[in-house]
Amino acid sequence: MGSLFDDAIGNLDMAAEYVSVEPEVIERLKHPKCALEMNIPVRMDDGSLQIFRGFRVRHNDSRGPTKGGIRFHPNVSLDEVKTLAFWMTVKCAVVGIPLGGGKGGVIVDPKQLSRMEVERLSRGYIRQAVDFIGPHTDIPAPDVYTNPMIMGWMMDEYSKLQRQHSPAVITGKPVSMGGSLGRDDATARGGYFCVKELEAMKHWEPKNITVAVQGFGNAGQHIASLLHADGYKVVAVSDSQGGIHSKEGFDVPSLIYAKLDTKKVKAVYCEGSVCEAVPAEHITNEELLELDVDILIPAALENVITDKNASAIKAKYILELANGPVTGHADTILQKNDVVVIPDILANAGGVTVSYFEWVQNKNGLYWGLDEVHQRLHAIMTREFKCVYSIMQEHGISMRTAAYVHALSRLNDAIFAQGTQRYFAESTG
Ligand code: GLU
Repeated sequence: MGSLFDDAIGNLDMAAEYVSVEPEVIERLKHPKCALEMNIPVRMDDGSLQIFRGFRVRHNDSRGPTKGGIRFHPNVSLDEVKTLAFWMTVKCAVVGIPLGGGKGGVIVDPKQLSRMEVERLSRGYIRQAVDFIGPHTDIPAPDVYTNPMIMGWMMDEYSKLQRQHSPAVITGKPVSMGGSLGRDDATARGGYFCVKELEAMKHWEPKNITVAVQGFGNAGQHIASLLHADGYKVVAVSDSQGGIHSKEGFDVPSLIYAKLDTKKVKAVYCEGSVCEAVPAEHITNEELLELDVDILIPAALENVITDKNASAIKAKYILELANGPVTGHADTILQKNDVVVIPDILANAGGVTVSYFEWVQNKNGLYWGLDEVHQRLHAIMTREFKCVYSIMQEHGISMRTAAYVHALSRLNDAIFAQGTQRYFAESTG
């Protein structure tokens, strides 16, 4: 297999067949604008020094400042960060928000660090990236294993270096530090609005629809809660340690309660604060992916559905809350088997959309209520879902290719407006 980046940009050529786009637009999108590699020295609690490797990539800013999260994970690489930045460019174009794509990452297992070490690492990252990011150039946010508190430290460090309060440099902050209401569950809520659109189209009865969620972090927990509250049957969840399965469906709030309490997914039923374990079958992450459910929700990392297991997938719908959970090869197999994939660049775009709202509020110094955030997110997600769905039907293509077609036409407009070969050749010729 080639690099993750090569696999990802293959979608551009596929989509270009269905939309009139200047060839140089595709060429531009195949090359990230710039990348920063850094070594971050951190004083550890025991007095020793450890150097962590970090990255920040700005992929494309034709539609606005680059935007995207910072990931703390042992498997981070420059190839991965480039790919994630590319997906951000496409994602912002799919939902039509005026931002480009960026991403950052640090090679670290934050679970091995103390909280104070994580703080020093987070502030160190900003000291290295201070000239690369900014409220009008590149705006980071949370991603895998980073959270509002880390965003708060990063904003504080940036503000100190600039000698001025700069909340708009980063999103996903704690609400008390200029974060937006509704950013915490925004990724899941965007995906949930996609499911609600399908529900209306397909006349689903939620109680008859089974759901499996792979990954029980921020996005996974919130989507499970939202769907469970609507009567959907969440029959399996997993985290990096393994998963649990129950045909009857779980009481999701108590699963979350147990996860927060013990840091493990456990089937419990809680009444007041008294929790009891309830019967559930233990399964692996791999087994969860192959369960016979209606909706499978990968909500962890990339490359979990590959050419090795794609033909064993029994779900009818896959909602990609993670970035890049399905490889290009797997996508072809799933399409052949009539599995509908609601692609990451649409399904998880709720996160960056509410990040955009947060940035707007920071720039205005005027803050919105939760209802306003939800209404605006709902309007964007349903509008763009419908657009992508109709492009899919019009051309008989996958929903992923349709989302790329939709994004490409917006990216094409922005790049074309600045002049492409056609414009310059005409004016000089
Ligand atoms: N990390 C999230 C994503 O992959 C959110 C990015 C943002 O809010 O800027 O979409």
